Amino acid sequence: MGTRSSKFVFSFEEGDNKNKKLLGGKGANLCGMTQIGLPVPPGFVISTEACLTYLAQNKKGLNAELLKEIRAEMKDLEKKTGKGFGDPDQPLLVSVRSGAAMSMPGMMDTILNLGLNQVTLGGLIKMTKNERFAYDAYRRLIQLFGSVALGMRDEDFDEIFKEIKEKHKAKDDVHLDAAGLKETCEGFLELVQKKTKKPFPEDPYEQLEIAIEAVFKSWMGKRAVDYRREFHITPEMANGTAVNVCTMVFGNLGEDSATGVAFTRNPGTGENRLFGEYMINAQGEDVVAGIRTPKPINEMRKDMPEVYKELEALRHTLEKHYREVQDFEFTIEKGKLYCLQTRNGKMNASALIKTSIDMVNEGLISEQQAILRIQPEMLDQLLHPRLDPKAKVKVLATGLPASPGAASGKIVFDADRAESKAKIGERVILVREETKPDDIHGFFASQGILTSRGGKTSHAAVVARSMGKPCVSGCEAIHINDIAKEAVISGVTLREGDMVTIDGSTGNVFLGIVPTIEPEFVEDLLVLLEWADEMAQLKVMANADTPEGVSKAKKYGAVGIGLCRTERMFNQPERLPIVQEMILAETSEERQAALERLLPFQREDFKEIFRIMDGLPVTVRLLDPPIHEFLPSDDELVVEIRHLRELVRTVELMEALPDTLKLLDPQLHGKYAANLETITHGLEELKNRHLAENLINAKESMLQKVKALSETNPMLGHRGVRLGITYPEIYSMQIRAIIEAAAECVKEKIPVAPEIMVPQVCTLQELVFVHNDVNRIRKEVEKKFGVKVPLKFGTMIEVVRACMRAGRLAELAEFMSFGTNDLTQATFSFSREDAENKFLPLYNERGILQHNPFEILDIKGVGRLMLITVEWARKTRPDIKTGICGEHGGHPDAIRFCHHINLTYVSCSPLRVPIARLAAAHGKLKEAEYQFV
Ligand code: ADP
Ligand code: MG
Ligand code: MG
Repeated sequence: MGTRSSKFVFSFEEGDNKNKKLLGGKGANLCGMTQIGLPVPPGFVISTEACLTYLAQNKKGLNAELLKEIRAEMKDLEKKTGKGFGDPDQPLLVSVRSGAAMSMPGMMDTILNLGLNQVTLGGLIKMTKNERFAYDAYRRLIQLFGSVALGMRDEDFDEIFKEIKEKHKAKDDVHLDAAGLKETCEGFLELVQKKTKKPFPEDPYEQLEIAIEAVFKSWMGKRAVDYRREFHITPEMANGTAVNVCTMVFGNLGEDSATGVAFTRNPGTGENRLFGEYMINAQGEDVVAGIRTPKPINEMRKDMPEVYKELEALRHTLEKHYREVQDFEFTIEKGKLYCLQTRNGKMNASALIKTSIDMVNEGLISEQQAILRIQPEMLDQLLHPRLDPKAKVKVLATGLPASPGAASGKIVFDADRAESKAKIGERVILVREETKPDDIHGFFASQGILTSRGGKTSHAAVVARSMGKPCVSGCEAIHINDIAKEAVISGVTLREGDMVTIDGSTGNVFLGIVPTIEPEFVEDLLVLLEWADEMAQLKVMANADTPEGVSKAKKYGAVGIGLCRTERMFNQPERLPIVQEMILAETSEERQAALERLLPFQREDFKEIFRIMDGLPVTVRLLDPPIHEFLPSDDELVVEIRHLRELVRTVELMEALPDTLKLLDPQLHGKYAANLETITHGLEELKNRHLAENLINAKESMLQKVKALSETNPMLGHRGVRLGITYPEIYSMQIRAIIEAAAECVKEKIPVAPEIMVPQVCTLQELVFVHNDVNRIRKEVEKKFGVKVPLKFGTMIEVVRACMRAGRLAELAEFMSFGTNDLTQATFSFSREDAENKFLPLYNERGILQHNPFEILDIKGVGRLMLITVEWARKTRPDIKTGICGEHGGHPDAIRFCHHINLTYVSCSPLRVPIARLAAAHGKLKEAEYQFV
């Protein structure tokens, strides 16, 4: 708690408006507004320290010291208002309002009109000459006090009120007259007596004390405690609640009175205009309660033109003072405006961006402040088509939100169908149990992908993300029968061609078309991101594998490609057969021949990518995944072979058919003879050409190869540089393609900065092996083309041993890039798929792990490894370029950490580049307050 303040209670004039921890957000701002001369009704704040002291003293009543201070402040209020608390002629009424440092639903509600009793009620009637109003105020107090401070049920009050309204034929509250309201108060008082076995407290000070205690206690109420746990609100952020006692002003004194809430700018669009609602002849709670429909603030221009002008002035004063869009409450009592609360307005991303730029232009905030007021993650809202929030729809099933964005289309159950349907202009959603590399053409053809199995790193998820297509994966509620071309979801049967909508941001699946809105990449955002780039130290690159992806990355502002995965280039339909040939090759020569056919494809891709990036670095990773990923699975092959065998057998049986038929019934035979003849003829041809047999042989040898290549732990098996060393000709081909592409660019005067990155390295000797090959090929190519090729050589860091040997690896590696997906698996010894499908959710639920480390970088473990690695690498090579290219590279928290350990760059998917640019600027601007846990 730190040192205690000298007192517990502060008037709005004296409270420190900067100290939200002590006075709560509401209290500090009430003080602030009072001190800049805004019309706040007089009042005072009881500090959060008083609350903590009360709770620490075991809730044994308010202590004498506090009571003394409260009484003194009440006396002061009496002086300021010229009224008396409990005074029979001029009664002072107050509201008692809770408010912690952070706004927190679940805390105690506000009690209005406190100080009313049988005696002061009479005074209020005399004072206002408005009996109806006075009884209305009284019945509100009894109900609020009863439910909030005495723990009674709201429903019991509502029931009485409803009965009386019915009896008096009043449609709603305003139609009930003084007599009806008086009757209501009597009913309410009886209810209190009955339920609490005590009369409603008459003494205003007793009311005040009970109310304050109730607010204090609510801090430890179950709802509030749960809320703080759920949203990780630590005592550092908010500790205890303050209580605000505020003189009542009345919006329910007639047609010249009102209450309302407003934003200083439109929180939906950012438009610089007053935005809000108000209700004539009502008290605060009515607007929220939805008893009557409030009017848009615009109408106040003609309803109350004078007050509207004051509201306009208030809006400017608030913004000038807080330098932020404000969300404020006001009440108008007999034509006089009062301000009852203000706080920073919550806005959507487009409104935040617009207001950031506008407020800089208006001189309200600096460019830094404009950047800092936008949480980077919020930009995600703007970068994908998303479901129209206005659409009212029911969720059919929910899977994992594997790749954000929304898409609608007709269901297809295989990639070929997706392709053929897309060719005739249909929008399709590819629905599969799982996807494989040879489904890739189906991805290109589809609007989105839905799978019933697999996590967020399943093939479907990873490929969809890299293409920026929406994907819902692991939606187990869907039972797919792709032979029958049917899927059953929660009792609904879907057939090919049925419309569905998927939302890859939430994992939801809907029946039919849900309207979407397109992403807006507005001018204001571009300006903002340019400012961010100027402030940031980290560079933002992108992970992109194809010319299309690379163009997108460049458009979104990536200053390089941090990860270009060559295997993605292997997956295209015209290349996959050659890749398979290469894998199935029996001899080195055969393999070489296949590789030579692949080389031009890769070279052209690299050239195109270099051309697009126009001199910015392009980091190409040599082949990484185990090669059996490019072959069909053995299950699939077994089925195909069985079908082929059955076909051969059927042909044999068909040959015997005419004779058998003749034997059976010569007449029948005569009828079919001609047809049978043509069929058997055709089949004979099939047989003579040995089509089926040849295919069976080919499939069988592929099956053998698949079996031979099968591994127990493919992710820890024959992949990455290990593959490059056992099949050196594969890497040689890729290296040659990169260097030749660069050489051709150099000849064409296109600037290039290629970088070759070796995956899965754990020892320097592996790097030496590849490095020698790079040198050899580079010399050859440079000689052949007659140009010098600029080139950097480096390694991924995704194996724990590589971290430990970073100093040694840095002897050869000019750069290092953390592959934090694999490095996280390696650090925890978790396999991601198994972890996410089996035990991680429980770990998170039980609090054993706070987060999913595959989504949120584990800074304490993986981060510390990164820190050590960088330190050791820099000892060997002080100017070593360092980066991160795992999925974490696009997440703001991880980016802040990367700034903290001084990485050179982060690399993320093209769509996240804007988020990362903003986060990189935040990293720099907030570096002083960064705490490495
Ligand atoms: P919440 O945090 O739920 O908004 P508040 O303490 O702000 O709770 O109060 C609830 C409603 O009562 C608001 O509409 C507020 O403007 C109104 N209100 C609070 N105090 C007063 C007061 N002294 N006079 C008039 N209305 C008030
Ligand atoms: Mg409020
Ligand atoms: Mg990896």
